Amino acid sequence: MLTTIRWFRLNALLVLGGVLAACGGGGGNPGSAPSDSRSLADRPDREPGLYQVHVIYAVPSDRPDRRLDVDGTLSGSLASAQAFFADAGEGIALRLDETLAGAVDISFLALPRPDADYAEFGLFAREAIQSEVLNAGFNDGRKLYLVYYDGTNPAACGGAPPLTTGDPVTVLYLNGLSGTAEACEQNPLRRADETAGYWEWAAIHEVVHALGFADPCGPNHAEERPGHTGDLNFDLMYAGTEPWLPTVVDPGQDDYFGANVAAGCARNLLLSAFITPQSGDQVPVNFRSRVPQFMAQSSAMPDARRAHVLHQGCILPPPQTE
Ligand SMILES: [Zn+2]
Repeated sequence: MLTTIRWFRLNALLVLGGVLAACGGGGGNPGSAPSDSRSLADRPDREPGLYQVHVIYAVPSDRPDRRLDVDGTLSGSLASAQAFFADAGEGIALRLDETLAGAVDISFLALPRPDADYAEFGLFAREAIQSEVLNAGFNDGRKLYLVYYDGTNPAACGGAPPLTTGDPVTVLYLNGLSGTAEACEQNPLRRADETAGYWEWAAIHEVVHALGFADPCGPNHAEERPGHTGDLNFDLMYAGTEPWLPTVVDPGQDDYFGANVAAGCARNLLLSAFITPQSGDQVPVNFRSRVPQFMAQSSAMPDARRAHVLHQGCILPPPQTE
């Protein structure tokens, strides 16, 4: 018997965004030196007016606050992720929202509802969390929001907007797939001086989804896994039957990044306004064009929309400290 009132109306979507699952294993503890004090709001920007990615640590009302926003964990993981992205993508980086002092500006969001209220949406929890983010005032028209959700999800470790919705919020579920052999939390968040692993790849992968990639225009697009390439498992945007072990952003540069992207493709990651060094001014298709809406009553989720992609990235060896 369905007793739960679904408080969020799911919008019809044509193309599913990327969803990540882990395959368990690993270990080790994240963490590094404490950094800044906690902020509940977006602080003044080091680069105001530019397109950028703002990071949020969000905790549901009934889950422990691990203070990952202020203990150095998320800033360390993001530094490791940026190093991976630069190595894999010829020196590029995400333009992360930074404070005037040059630190990554990570906001804290205390979510008003318990974990189960978000988890019940499964793959579409991203949309519920997105509404909370926007309603909390994180709603800058030039920002994408990368949310580290310190709660569960029954379906994935992360989710990005479908390619053409232009939605601004991407979510990583730090306790996704809890209780399964693929529990996301088995993957450690890496420190700044550690080689990137699952969460760092996932952060970049999901943000690149939100930027509109991999577009189906590419020759190696995975038709059964929209938004991904399907040819090489070391591609950042690969999804398929092989373990996902990304080391390169678009090998051959023919699908979504670089010089050989097909003329028929409207966008090229190299030319994204969210990428540094900035070579172009492209923003995602329909960026910020719709307003997420709440629903008033229950509505079953069509089963067909549950079709999704599960990355089969495997657990990595212990982190290498350089
Ligand atoms: Zn994906």
